[in-house]
This record gives sequence, structure tokens and C-alpha cells, in this order.
Amino acid sequence: MKTKIINAHVISPGVDMKKATIVIQNGKIKSVGTECKDEKFDEIIDVRGKYVVPGFIDVHLHGACGYDVCDEDKPEAIEKIAEAKLAEGCTSFLPTTLTVANKTLMSAAKKVAAYKKAGEKFAKVIGIHLEGPFINPSCCGAQNPEFVRKPDIKEVLKISKVSPVKLVSFAVEEKGGEKFVEECFKNGIVPSCGHTGATLAQFMPGYEKGLRHLTHFCNQMTKLHHREIGMVGAGFLIDDLNTEIICDKIHLSPDMLRLIFKKRPIEHIQMITDSLRCSHLEDGYAFEMGGLKVLLKGGEARLVEGGALAGSTLWMNQGLKNLREVTGLPLKDLIRVTSWNQAIELGLGKQLGKIEKGFTADIAVLDPKTFNVCAVFVNGEQRI
Ligand SMILES: [Zn+2]
Repeated sequence: MKTKIINAHVISPGVDMKKATIVIQNGKIKSVGTECKDEKFDEIIDVRGKYVVPGFIDVHLHGACGYDVCDEDKPEAIEKIAEAKLAEGCTSFLPTTLTVANKTLMSAAKKVAAYKKAGEKFAKVIGIHLEGPFINPSCCGAQNPEFVRKPDIKEVLKISKVSPVKLVSFAVEEKGGEKFVEECFKNGIVPSCGHTGATLAQFMPGYEKGLRHLTHFCNQMTKLHHREIGMVGAGFLIDDLNTEIICDKIHLSPDMLRLIFKKRPIEHIQMITDSLRCSHLEDGYAFEMGGLKVLLKGGEARLVEGGALAGSTLWMNQGLKNLREVTGLPLKDLIRVTSWNQAIELGLGKQLGKIEKGFTADIAVLDPKTFNVCAVFVNGEQRI
């Protein structure tokens, strides 16, 4: 199968190329450029000047369309979520679990394994992201404190046997946190500090062991204080921390987003949605999350009790539009934070995250005004 995409406005890390032609063969990008030799193609697609960007990689999302990764009673959950993510221009994702009982985590892993085995009809799964249960009980946010436990690599490996875990969000200051960093790396898992009450001094031993990822930067971590700069301060002080950011302008105000892009190296920022089951649904939708009641009101998903933000309803394509408007940075720079940075950290930086020769043909086509998703290709196959 040989496909040619013509009249593309290619936006890829460091590249902004109009009137480009992209040739796709056997699921990979064969060439990108403004000139294309006259060859025979099975299919020619004219995208009429629309943006053609690397398919997004969301490394932190819990659900969509009424489904959650942790739903034990809905075997179709992962497929439904993958379908919704594809509609956002997402070609790969990390189904993200909540702080819940072990049996619920095991059942989530089984569902992920089943989706992969069935051939991943929509967006592809890179691996599981365990958000908790090894978090700081005083920084739960919308995670249920009832299920919090101490860092335990054995539990992670048990889940990983069913379907590989790629990322674990945990609080490094908890007992065994430092050792947990080492054990994650030994098993090819990226550890991430999140839902944490660590001081900078408590974080540093983990950093020395290689800890480089911060879960939803600024949310549910120690705030910046001038006598103890906390984890928010760590994110600004230490360049090579990979900071997840939720770009819905609610979890981080537009000013904070501007500050992050002004002060942090763009190659260490990763956009996430942290989307909940209420994403892709209408206002007024009420649901339970890890046993806690949540209501979607005015586009914000908050706990009924206490009012903590529970996660977002953000779509990846909207997040990119928000970033463009808020920061004013060129898209060829911003586009790093929607997939390539994630791909590099997950060891896939030579395959995913760029519109470039040799890369997997995971591509999203966006309307330049609205950033609405017009087409999505996964492994070179048009799925939207
Ligand atoms: Zn989350």
C-alpha cells in the first residue's frame, strides 16, 4: 500500500513546510518534501493546506465517553476510550489507572491486554500508566485515600505481567520511594513523581537515581514557597525534569502556562489531558471515580464533596490550540510537547512523534483555524 498526501502544511518538531507531499509506504513515512517524483500510488489524498502533524501521544488519561480504564464491569472500556482518543488526533496513549484496589488494577490490565490482542482498532496502546496507588495520602486530590499504599514494585510487576506498565506516578517521599525508582528502571518502567508532598531535599535522592518525570506539574504537589521551593520550584529549577501539563486553562491558568513555556526547556514539557470518563460528554454528567462522586459543571469536573478538581475534559487537539493562543509560540516548537518529547522518554523517539522519513506514519490532519481533527492515520492507515 502506497499513499500520497498532497497540499499538506507539515508541522513537525523544527519543521513548518507548506505545500508539502508526504509519501507513506507499508505504514512508514517514505518521504516528506515539496517535490515528489512521479510514482504510482494506490491512493492520493489532497488535504488542501491543512495542518499535518505527528499523531498525538497522551501519556495520562483515565477515560472518555462514559468509560474509565478502571471500569471492571465494562470489558469494552479500552476500545471505547481508544476510539474517543483517536477523534482528538491521538494515535498512541497510555491508559491510566486510579488509586484503587489491586483486583481493579489487574482487571484494567486484562482489558488493555485484550484490546491489544484484538489488533488495536483505534489509537494504539504504548503501555499502562499507573497513577498511584503509591501516593502521599495528604495529596490525593481526586484519588481515593482508602486505597493508598506504600511503593511496591512487586505489585507493579504483577500487573505488568498481564499488560506492560510503562509509567508509574508515585510519591518519592513515601517509605521505599528512592529504591522504587531504581526498581522501576531495572524493569523498563519510567517512574514519575506525583501526588507528592516532597520538599526539594526529599525529592533529590530520587533524582540522583534517575527520577525525571513529574505527574501533572503544579497539580497535587508541594507549592513554591520562598523558603521551601517544593516540587513546583523543582520543576522550575531543574531543566531536565519531564513535566506533564494539563493545557485546559483550568488546571493551569493561562499565566502559569506562559510562565512554564518562558522558563522551562520545551524539550522537557509533555502535554497530557488527564481526561476523565466525562470527557466527550455534556455538562451536568455525574459519575463516581474510585468511589468518589464527581460532577461535570461549566466544563470543570470536580468532586461533589470538597470541590477538588478531579481531572479534565480536555481533548489533545484543543490543548494544542490553547497553547498556541496562550503562548504565541510557533507551532513547529509547540508540536514537540504533544508527542515527540513523550516518545523520546518512552524509548520510541526514532519511531514516533515526527513527520519524517523512516518514522511510523501516525499522523493527524487539523483544520488550521479551529484545530478540529479532519483525518487521522495510524500505521499509515486512515482511520478517520
Ligand atoms: Zn490522572
